Amino acid sequence: TFRRSGIGHETLVKRKAEEELENLRRKVHMKKQAEEKAADQFRMRFKSKQEELKLEGDLRRSQRACQQLDTQKDIEVPREPWYWTVPEKEEQEEEEEEEEKEKEEDECGSDDLSVVEKLQILTSYLREKHRYCIWCGTAYEDEEDLSSNCPGPTSADHD
Ligand SMILES: [Zn+2]
Repeated sequence: TFRRSGIGHETLVKRKAEEELENLRRKVHMKKQAEEKAADQFRMRFKSKQEELKLEGDLRRSQRACQQLDTQKDIEVPREPWYWTVPEKEEQEEEEEEEEKEKEEDECGSDDLSVVEKLQILTSYLREKHRYCIWCGTAYEDEEDLSSNCPGPTSADHD
């Protein structure tokens, strides 16, 4: 009986060890999956952050070009305030203004355009009004000049 129970005990220990190993494998697998998922999310966030910065850069360039081209045509006031760049100010003033602006936006919600929407609107304004393409960096002679020399109205057309 001692021997039998000994075998029984050994089998039990062995089975237990196998179960634990299986649990461990499962845990490692799940951990790996979670890590991969987190890495994917990070990559996606990073990519969209880069795209956001690129769009913001494009918008600022458009605003500068718009202000310059409008001024050349004796346009003294932008069609919409955000068509032109905001003049640079003292750090503190800007912060205060930023807060006020945020408050205003919250209250009336007039300026609820995203960077992408602003860029699209400004891009087509520059093309229609000034025959200017920010990605070519060129002000064309006329509609024909623009359409035959500029590959298209988006940044992707110029890659
Ligand atoms: Zn172009």
